[in-house]
Amino acid sequence: MTETGVGGAKGIQGLILKAFGADDYRLTVTAPARYFTDHYVRLEFSGGGLLREKPYHPTMFLRLWFEDRQGRLHQRGYTVVDPDPAADTFAIEFALHEGAAARWALTARPGDALGATFLGSGFAIPEPAPEGWLIVGDAASLPAINSLLDALGRTTARGVPVTFWFEWVHDSDKDLPMRLRPHDTLHRVRRDPAPGAGIVEAVRAAAFDATGHFGWVALDTAQTRAVASVLRTDYKLGRRGVKSQAYWLETRCPS
Ligand SMILES: Cc1cc2nc3c(=O)[nH]c(=O)nc-3n(C[C@H](O)[C@H](O)[C@H](O)COP(=O)(O)OP(=O)(O)OC[C@H]3O[C@@H](n4cnc5c(N)ncnc54)[C@H](O)[C@@H]3O)c2cc1C
Repeated sequence: MTETGVGGAKGIQGLILKAFGADDYRLTVTAPARYFTDHYVRLEFSGGGLLREKPYHPTMFLRLWFEDRQGRLHQRGYTVVDPDPAADTFAIEFALHEGAAARWALTARPGDALGATFLGSGFAIPEPAPEGWLIVGDAASLPAINSLLDALGRTTARGVPVTFWFEWVHDSDKDLPMRLRPHDTLHRVRRDPAPGAGIVEAVRAAAFDATGHFGWVALDTAQTRAVASVLRTDYKLGRRGVKSQAYWLETRCPS
């Protein structure tokens, strides 16, 4: 059994989070990994008291601590999936790519411990209920999007339609778990982050006056900014009609 990011030296990131009042938790893997595809794996955890202390909300995320190849800890956001607050258990789903988080997830076993910090997570379904939702995401934000779809299914917004643009990379991404309802619409768009291409253009090309809708966007940093701007302007949602958050930073040179 291994321990990663539990206590220990979290460096300047850890000091800053503490200064902002963050709380630390020790997560423990409780079951063998479940692979949805060759690039997407789910792990079950007990929360070390997390869900007894922090009320759950859709898209809730933790800052998990992973070791880079030099043995230094860094924190990355991951989404709480299918929480059971009474049991203090939940899952986390990892989109697998190059990186410390994926490396950890690929070798995690029941009993392994992982450090988590809670700070900065907050979101509520807007009131009054929007007339429709425009959601734009990828494999990394799919857990958060599924948590939104679950919440919409439980609230008064039950019949409100969602249009979901999903950026895919691997052929197997078509087998990823999506909790869309029959009245929702899915557009699959192959990843192409070049300007004037890919998901930004797909969203732009479908623009209409969507006043009264709500937009939710989480892609890589550059595309999150671009799509959010399209929704605010071309779809006429304005600043308050869009929630956007960059989920990851593209650092590889385009090939
Ligand atoms: C609020 C929030 C919630 C999130 N929830 C989830 C979640 O539930 N599941 C999940 O899988 N991810 C989630 N993410 C994204 C995750 O935090 C990032 O992908 C993170 O960069 C992974 O860290 P790493 O240490 O593995 O890789 P890093 O050290 O950050 O990056 C290593 C390399 O991998 C590339 N890379 C990083 N992320 C991706 C990606 N998603 N796809 C392709 N290449 C990538 C980088 O460009 C870099 O070249 C969330 C992010 C945020 C902000």
